Amino acid sequence: MSDIIQLLPDHVANQIAAGEVVQRPASVVKELLENAIDADAKSITLILKEAGKTLIQIVDNGKGMSTTDARLCFERHATSKITSADDLFALHTKGFRGEALASIAAISHVELKTRQKAEELATHIKIEGSKVTYQDFSSGPEGTSIAVKNLFYNIPARRNFLKSNTVETRHIVDEFQRVALAHPEVEFFFYHNASEVYQLPVSNLRKRIVAIFGSKVNEKLVPIDEQTDILSITGFIAKPEYAKKKRGEQFFFVNNRFIKSSYLHHAVVNAFQGLIDQASHPSYFLYLTVPPKSIDINIHPTKTEIKFDDEKALYAILRATIKHSLGQYNVAPILDFNRDASLDTPYDYREKTATTPKIHVNPNFNPFVNNQQKTTNFLLKKEDKSWENFYVEKEKNLEVKPDRLFESSKEQETGKTLQVQRKYVLSSIKSGVVLIHQNLAHQRVLYESFLESITVQEANSQQLLFPVKITFNSEEIKLLQSILSDLENAGFAFEVFDKESITIKGIPTSINESQIEIILEQLLEDIQLEVPNASFSHFDIMAKSFANSLSIKTGAVLSAREQEALVNNLFSCKEPSQSPQGKPTFKTLTLEEIDLLFKTTK
Ligand code: ADP
Ligand code: MG
Repeated sequence: MSDIIQLLPDHVANQIAAGEVVQRPASVVKELLENAIDADAKSITLILKEAGKTLIQIVDNGKGMSTTDARLCFERHATSKITSADDLFALHTKGFRGEALASIAAISHVELKTRQKAEELATHIKIEGSKVTYQDFSSGPEGTSIAVKNLFYNIPARRNFLKSNTVETRHIVDEFQRVALAHPEVEFFFYHNASEVYQLPVSNLRKRIVAIFGSKVNEKLVPIDEQTDILSITGFIAKPEYAKKKRGEQFFFVNNRFIKSSYLHHAVVNAFQGLIDQASHPSYFLYLTVPPKSIDINIHPTKTEIKFDDEKALYAILRATIKHSLGQYNVAPILDFNRDASLDTPYDYREKTATTPKIHVNPNFNPFVNNQQKTTNFLLKKEDKSWENFYVEKEKNLEVKPDRLFESSKEQETGKTLQVQRKYVLSSIKSGVVLIHQNLAHQRVLYESFLESITVQEANSQQLLFPVKITFNSEEIKLLQSILSDLENAGFAFEVFDKESITIKGIPTSINESQIEIILEQLLEDIQLEVPNASFSHFDIMAKSFANSLSIKTGAVLSAREQEALVNNLFSCKEPSQSPQGKPTFKTLTLEEIDLLFKTTK
């Protein structure tokens, strides 16, 4: 038998290895930024074209490479950062595997220019798919510039798999922010398609956070500072009242390296317990310093996960530290056993003697009589015009379809709906019963109504008495600007659109003032997560997003009238059976199916 095993040629091996290191343009950005930091750069510029799909360039003023090193750095396992396996346990740099540049060069067109301080000329090298196509000396500044063009040009499957520019840019911005937050002592510039995304001067951590997330963050930050024998924790958490409805800004750095740790995240969330509701997310920027020997960062190829020696102790210290800071800054009430409790009582009551409370009984009270005047549900509150209008309008428009599942709404009023576990509405129909998911059903109703008002009718806009100013970060402002005309079509009217804030003077009639911020926040998040081709237009995303933020949630108690309105509105939808995201909104159970449940299997 002949031998069949062969060694893979280097460029093939590199291409395979590349898949592990480089998943998308953001992975390249991360590796190159980290190399620049490791080279002691004090100024780093990131330049992108088309979300990094055509160009990712990083220019640094770090120590540069010799001509030999400039050639060697594209070889696999070429690294200046470790020389023996022992070094792995005492790492102070970001890189160490020596495969990033080799991987990147295997799947793109790379152009490198690098000059060390002592040298007069820079080395200039071009590589295409691991092959050096050009090498010479040229003039150039001290430091290194690496341009990565046409990523995945030789792996079409990978290239086609890339998401929309919005999504890929989002990933890059995430990576950029992580590095920039870990190194406020370094100056950063970030340009995308020739426009400036960030310009971050050398600063301290607080200023760096503000420079990235906008000036509105400043007042929210509570400093954290704790030194113990096994670790130190510094950084900031955001006050509980600023917890975000959407996933907040959450950053952990261990020895200045961004990491993800659901375990440590849990410790933080736990410290906030009771201060924010479960649907909100605390923001935090936390910097842990531990002896390099006590962690293992080698467990994940992209190095965002770390294994700690003593996780339990870290958890306890982290949780206690945050609780303490929340208390110290008067953000959370602290237990103080020396406090004179009488001071907590309002003056008027201090000297009064306690009297036995009287119990008033209403002899006419009948729990089975539904008193609709008493309803306190937010859906029908007098001042909450939007809801009222919505239901009234819908009811007016309600045409009775021939195939309507329901008897006339007069009969409905006699109480044929029942709310189950504040989550479902049960209603009897001719053929049996229908169980409606209140949140998903309401999303469908709102979604169709928004689509209709955005696309078919002239959008109804209501003028705000006082324009509302909302602060956003520069990235969010850009996104909002890019969908400006869609927002206007939906009924928004803007007065000012500047670098950090927008001033809104009109909103769609279907929403109310207090909801503006949460709606726009949700919209931004939804657009950023947009998957290409999944939606037809921003209209559609917008309608889905609005429907999601404004819908009745699970847990909301619905009055009989609201239950009934929901049922009627759902079944006057064009597509009542699915939520905008395609989940079922209701299930029916026919009489036969119910009967079957009671049959014994004898
Ligand atoms: P690693 O960072 O794991 O060592 P890389 O493939 O990212 O592996 O880089 C290989 C080597 O190239 C580095 O160890 C370093 O010596 C050199 N290098 C890469 N980027 C730069 C840079 N921007 N400035 C100076 N040297 C660099
Ligand atoms: Mg590296």
